[in-house]
Amino acid sequence: MLTPISISRPKPYLLYIEWNDAFSSTILLETLRDQCPCAGCQGEEIMGQKVFVGIKMFKPGMNELKALTPVGNYGLQATWADGHATGIYTWQSLRAICETHTLTPQQLTDLASKE
Ligand SMILES: [Zn+2]
Repeated sequence: MLTPISISRPKPYLLYIEWNDAFSSTILLETLRDQCPCAGCQGEEIMGQKVFVGIKMFKPGMNELKALTPVGNYGLQATWADGHATGIYTWQSLRAICETHTLTPQQLTDLASKE
């Protein structure tokens, strides 16, 4: 099973994850929040249709990560500064986010130059 062996925050807005198969990825915390797997953020599947129970609006602190807490041995629960903490990222979903949204060295340089 693919699991993270190291998770760190190189910048306040970045998350760096190293996996047990030597894959590593740096993603924006904003992306992690955007991909929050809870029903409130991703919509709930009801009778085969996606139903959104809330409208996504920007809230102060929503992309600011307070804590990542291991859940059993299958994933992580993220707690955000706006109080949102219902999203549990399984290793599989976290890996998918890392593979899809990993930042290139060029993007990292561009972000650093805007600090
Ligand atoms: Zn959520």
